[in-house]
Amino acid sequence: MIVVLKKGISEEESERLKELLRSENYMVKEIKGVEETVLGVVGTIRKDFRHFETLPGVAKVIPISKPYKLVSRELHPEPSVIQVGDVAIGGDRLVVIAGPCAVEERKRTMEIARWVRRCGAVLFRGGAFKPRTSPYSFQGMGEEGLRILAEVREETGLGVVTEMTSPSQADLMVKYVDVVQIGARNMQNFELLKCVGRIGKPVLLKRGLSATIEEWLMSAEYILSEGNEQVILCERGIRTFERHTRNTLDLTAVPVVKELTHLPIIIDPSHATGIREKVSPMARAAIAAGADGLTIEVHTDPDNALSDGPQSLYPEQFKQLMRDLHVIAPVVGKQLDYAYLDKAAKLKKASGPGRPAVRVLYAGEPGSFSHKACLQFFGPDIDHANCASFGEVFKAVEEGSAALGIVPVENSQTGSIHENYDLLLEYDLRIVGEITLRIMHNLLGHEGSTVDAIQRVYSHPQVFQQCRDYLGDHSQWDLVACKDTASAVQRIKESGDRTEAAIASREAAQLFHMKVLQEGIETNPRNFTRFVVISRNDLLEGPRNKSSIIFSVSDQPGSLCEVLKTFAENRINLVKLESRPIDTRPWEYLFYADVEIDIFDEPYRPILEELRGKTEFLKILGSYPKASAQPE
Ligand code: PEP
Ligand code: MN
Repeated sequence: MIVVLKKGISEEESERLKELLRSENYMVKEIKGVEETVLGVVGTIRKDFRHFETLPGVAKVIPISKPYKLVSRELHPEPSVIQVGDVAIGGDRLVVIAGPCAVEERKRTMEIARWVRRCGAVLFRGGAFKPRTSPYSFQGMGEEGLRILAEVREETGLGVVTEMTSPSQADLMVKYVDVVQIGARNMQNFELLKCVGRIGKPVLLKRGLSATIEEWLMSAEYILSEGNEQVILCERGIRTFERHTRNTLDLTAVPVVKELTHLPIIIDPSHATGIREKVSPMARAAIAAGADGLTIEVHTDPDNALSDGPQSLYPEQFKQLMRDLHVIAPVVGKQLDYAYLDKAAKLKKASGPGRPAVRVLYAGEPGSFSHKACLQFFGPDIDHANCASFGEVFKAVEEGSAALGIVPVENSQTGSIHENYDLLLEYDLRIVGEITLRIMHNLLGHEGSTVDAIQRVYSHPQVFQQCRDYLGDHSQWDLVACKDTASAVQRIKESGDRTEAAIASREAAQLFHMKVLQEGIETNPRNFTRFVVISRNDLLEGPRNKSSIIFSVSDQPGSLCEVLKTFAENRINLVKLESRPIDTRPWEYLFYADVEIDIFDEPYRPILEELRGKTEFLKILGSYPKASAQPE
């Protein structure tokens, strides 16, 4: 049952209540929300619910309708993010686990690991204990295989995932692996589930061959009830009458599981299809359906693989799949970040022992698109905070109270965010990264309200422009400008007025518990905003292929053309050129340009000199990896 605590309950009173419930043999889990704190109380409830409502500090008691309690969304409305080292499963960045079916000899395994790492995989898979259908098939390398996995982690930085088939392997799992996999055949091996619950490492729980979603969630409940909340569900195909593929991939499980539980879900298209050519289409579909990630079998010589060769992707196929996923991810509000592990390593190095954690600032309220960009670029566990304005972000980064800032610079529909271009000119900071987000707008209102009841709408002025067609159909509405989309939601939330609505993201709706009255109201669904990451120094050093500059030219015929000629003659791709007025010199302009080179790279030194000669003013804003940078 869910015990909702009274607002303003003291810490001691809440502790006393938890103690009392525990003394009656209930498992108690506290969940602090934005608006209220609840206790999840699990165990055999022998007393009438009204008894619990009479306890001091209790506002109300709500029974959990499902047989699984700790895994249910009813108890835990926010999605869980499972952290495996630097990798967050269930956040805004897709997690791709890749590797062979079984760990093979060291050299081969290492070769596969290096390849998948380069293509953007963030965890490595490989079985050392293989539950095979036939006792005569290869059974895995056992502890020797685990040692190889540990070497993979050591050399590549990839956390390792492997299957545990018996409680007797618990010590080995603790010693060698990062994520313990429970295979489909063992999904209802309850002793094994209790055992991984006690080990306390993250668990990848595969769906049983013929298990219903409810049975699968009950198995997860076993693990959580032992005190281990780090469970990742994995749909890997179920047994049906269809024999064309090895199993039938139940992709419906993604939205169903997302509704029923807070646990993340990934898809295994390899075991689901059993046929190499069918793996990539199903992987793409899984991400489009909203899965948090994938686990995929990849082998550098699948024809000679010791296990599951026919369903293992060739390295080139895996690389192509990752490129496709990179394009699909933003459509469903996520990212596939090729630099995931490298970025984490650099941030760790920058914070280093004895130095404070690297802090990132964004402007606006939590739930705004800048907040989302921050989470997508850096992941959910970065130390981040918000400022009231873009100017404050620049100021704080320049003064050093934060190492990094993230600000929007341009929207694909409405153009540049000039304030930030002016701030880039004013402050002596560098652009060290960029990210593009698909921007989907929704009309948010109060529970019980409808589109017809709305009279006033709050949002950012650029958002009104991006929703011009929809707002044109409701021209009687008053439009009120706000600093950002999340503060617009906050305003209507505080007023409680059902005739008011805000335009913002789905995340903002969830965060503020508001209702989506109409989704996808932006005029063009291909609506993207580009954000840049700013810093005082080159915190994220590494390969770079895009640079941003500001320049002005003399008031002579052909002077701008001369600069452009430098780019053209050196075959440098100019991807953006924009002019901005110089406020102290009416009718004179600065040019902002983006080029697809690392302008600091040695071979470009003469070109930089040439540019200096052809311009009156030249400022290099920075050089960074472009958002669409591909693995080599
Ligand atoms: C595996 O992932 O190697 C495996 C054996 O999968 P499943 O348990 O889903 O068959
Ligand atoms: Mn396999």
